[in-house]
Amino acid sequence: MKILKNYDLKNLNTFGIPTKAKFFVEITGEGELNELFKEPLYIGHEKLFLGEGSNVLFTKDWGGIVVLNKIKGIEILEEDSENILIKSMSGVIWHDLVSFAVDHDYWGIENLALIPGTVGAAPMQNIGAYGAELKNVLTLVEAYNVNTGEKRIFSKEECIFGYRDSIFKNSLRNKYFISAITLRLSKTGKPNTSYKILKEHLEKNKIEIKNSKNISDAVSEIRRSKLPDPRVIGNAGSFFKNVFVDKDKLAELRRLYPAMPFFEEDGLSKIPSAWLIEQCGPANGTSWKGYRVGNVGVHHKQALVLVNHGDGRGQDIKDLALQIIASVKEKFGLELAPEVNLI
Ligand SMILES: Cc1cc2nc3c(=O)[nH]c(=O)nc-3n(C[C@H](O)[C@H](O)[C@H](O)COP(=O)(O)OP(=O)(O)OC[C@H]3O[C@@H](n4cnc5c(N)ncnc54)[C@H](O)[C@@H]3O)c2cc1C
Repeated sequence: MKILKNYDLKNLNTFGIPTKAKFFVEITGEGELNELFKEPLYIGHEKLFLGEGSNVLFTKDWGGIVVLNKIKGIEILEEDSENILIKSMSGVIWHDLVSFAVDHDYWGIENLALIPGTVGAAPMQNIGAYGAELKNVLTLVEAYNVNTGEKRIFSKEECIFGYRDSIFKNSLRNKYFISAITLRLSKTGKPNTSYKILKEHLEKNKIEIKNSKNISDAVSEIRRSKLPDPRVIGNAGSFFKNVFVDKDKLAELRRLYPAMPFFEEDGLSKIPSAWLIEQCGPANGTSWKGYRVGNVGVHHKQALVLVNHGDGRGQDIKDLALQIIASVKEKFGLELAPEVNLI
């Protein structure tokens, strides 16, 4: 374990923002982590734990220490004829865990295929896609208090999961390093095709579902066709969360905007933020979709995705995000919240 100085994080965040960390260290095991907790340079500086950097926007240099998580390993803890309990260390790439599961025909995370990032960041925002969320299969989280080094087990209930949300994004933000998670997957699961786009894709391509890999393949194909690849253009996926309103608010909005799409979820109505953003723009009669200012902008196919065209700065992307939030608020009275972690 070697602590480096003035380390450039450009290749460690999917926005591709050049940012310097005053100190930088990579950890590959819990032993190294426990050593790090005793390092004076670690103790004396503000800490930022980083996975694949696919959900962060650096708006300035980091004056403390960045710890890059490379703790790998997947282990089967228990199994019976119906279920299997799998522990994954937090530095495993999320899609590698999905591949491990579907290669054995275990069910539960196949709809979450190809979400970028590490396993350890997944509970942070209760990753979700195509009708599934991490909280549906997670049983516990192992984490270390980043200041005391003390290890704690969080039950699923203690994680207080919500839509793209958890206790680790709120009251415990930057206070715990997630070292491992345990998932309960099924050996006898049924395909979850509740998500409209997935269902339509399966029908259109006449895909017969024989195993969980068929679902993960279909999801991967849809994702590749819809989302910009960060290796081609810097981005962090959806920059904003979708908006949830109660039925009275929805009725009021739909009176004014009959074309406003919505989806019923958990007793509330979800309004796609992409639609709201498309209806607004930098000036009257224009749309944010495809808008570019300098080196940053809004993706031309997906209005939820902010992009770095090349040499953009994090602050430029943040400024653009604030303008988008203000315009949506002015037109619809709705508050967009960033999904990406601003640093
Ligand atoms: C093209 C694209 C598509 C995406 N699609 C989706 C999607 O469909 N659904 C979805 O939910 N997300 C999506 N995302 C967002 C992103 O993939 C997830 O949020 C992912 O979990 C982030 O993982 P990471 O390792 O890159 O986290 P990072 O960006 O490295 O970190 C994110 C936050 O978590 C903290 N963190 C990281 N690791 C740990 C740890 N071990 N312990 C404690 N805190 C930690 C960091 O400090 C930071 O605040 C997408 C991103 C991209 C670029």
